[in-house]
Amino acid sequence: MRAVLPPDASAADAGRLQAMQEIEAAVLACQRCPLAEGRTHAVPGEGNLNAVVMFVGEGPGFDEDRLGRPFVGRSGQYLTETLERLGIARSDVYITNVVKCRPPKNRDPLPAELEACADYLEQQVAIINPRIIVTLGRFSMKRWFPEGSITRVHGQVRNIGRGRIAVAMFHPAAALRNPQWQTEFEQDMARLPSLIERARRANQAAGRGEALPAGVPHPGDPDYVPPPAPAASGLPAGGDVEDTSQLTLF
Ligand code: URA
Ligand code: SF4
Repeated sequence: MRAVLPPDASAADAGRLQAMQEIEAAVLACQRCPLAEGRTHAVPGEGNLNAVVMFVGEGPGFDEDRLGRPFVGRSGQYLTETLERLGIARSDVYITNVVKCRPPKNRDPLPAELEACADYLEQQVAIINPRIIVTLGRFSMKRWFPEGSITRVHGQVRNIGRGRIAVAMFHPAAALRNPQWQTEFEQDMARLPSLIERARRANQAAGRGEALPAGVPHPGDPDYVPPPAPAASGLPAGGDVEDTSQLTLF
């Protein structure tokens, strides 16, 4: 399974699917770093192309390397079950990793490997255009919480610009090893349904032209350019227009 379109997809979504399929093909053939040598299958990622939430783990383990799919081993089953207990279907989200090929004996990915692979993740974020990025474990956390330590920043929600937030969480494999981290992981995950609901509302407001869509500069982003003041229309400024500024927090 790779990126898939939901049944209500539009023609524009088909173009995004094609862009994602090109990234998937590039990952499967990639030789940019030494992790290419030891892999059985590269693991580009999988899930709903229109997901509002994207999970970013560390890298494929034994089972993922064997099957070419992310988070399908023990920690993946735990992640999937945790999502389902919260009413979140795996088919509604997108899941990938910071490195797409398995490090030997599951060692930590090296800085040069993370850097070589970063561009794929960046392009995947641009195509999926999620409102919420959940980092699972230290290596994806570092990307959006560079100063953080996981025990301190887990559960934190951070505005990362472009109408997106990042939420740092423990890696499910770490949660399975440590009962306290497991409790904290499940508490952090339990915040997702309401964040997803807010993200959906933000997307609906953007669809009606009442808020900015994800992926464009937002107020507070360095490249944000405020729109020109509307020409006088005879209508009272603001008036009974709903205040959507909270939604643009995403
Ligand atoms: N651990 C990860 O970080 N990613 C996977 O895909 C599986 C296990
Ligand atoms: Fe390419 Fe990433 Fe695999 Fe390295 S880990 S070979 S950069 S896909």
